[in-house]
Amino acid sequence: MSTDHDDGSPLPLDGNAVGGFLRELFAFEVTDASVTCAGCGTVAFIAETRVYGEPMGAILRCAHCDVAVMRLVRTPAGLWLDLRGARRLLARPSHRRAQQTKKAKGRRLPAGARSRTK
Ligand SMILES: [Zn+2]
Repeated sequence: MSTDHDDGSPLPLDGNAVGGFLRELFAFEVTDASVTCAGCGTVAFIAETRVYGEPMGAILRCAHCDVAVMRLVRTPAGLWLDLRGARRLLARPSHRRAQQTKKAKGRRLPAGARSRTK
């Protein structure tokens, strides 16, 4: 069985080929991830966004320009995640999270954001 087209270019694999990569990507503490706003380019922790809505869903808005960077909706079919307002999402490995958490301690969250600590 060939893994290349007749012209030598590789045949695409199905999405199962990146299952391990995606499992690694989505197995992180999401509130410690940072998001780059597609509206203004601000990079901020998810925990620093302003959250509206709940309990069916939530809209996370950039604390700087108010663009909706993430939309979460719970439906009977499952959970929907819309990232149209985010240029990118950066998930940090666990050892980097501990460093970031130390730096973030003492920092005030913007109005409307919820603290993750009690
Ligand atoms: Zn923004």
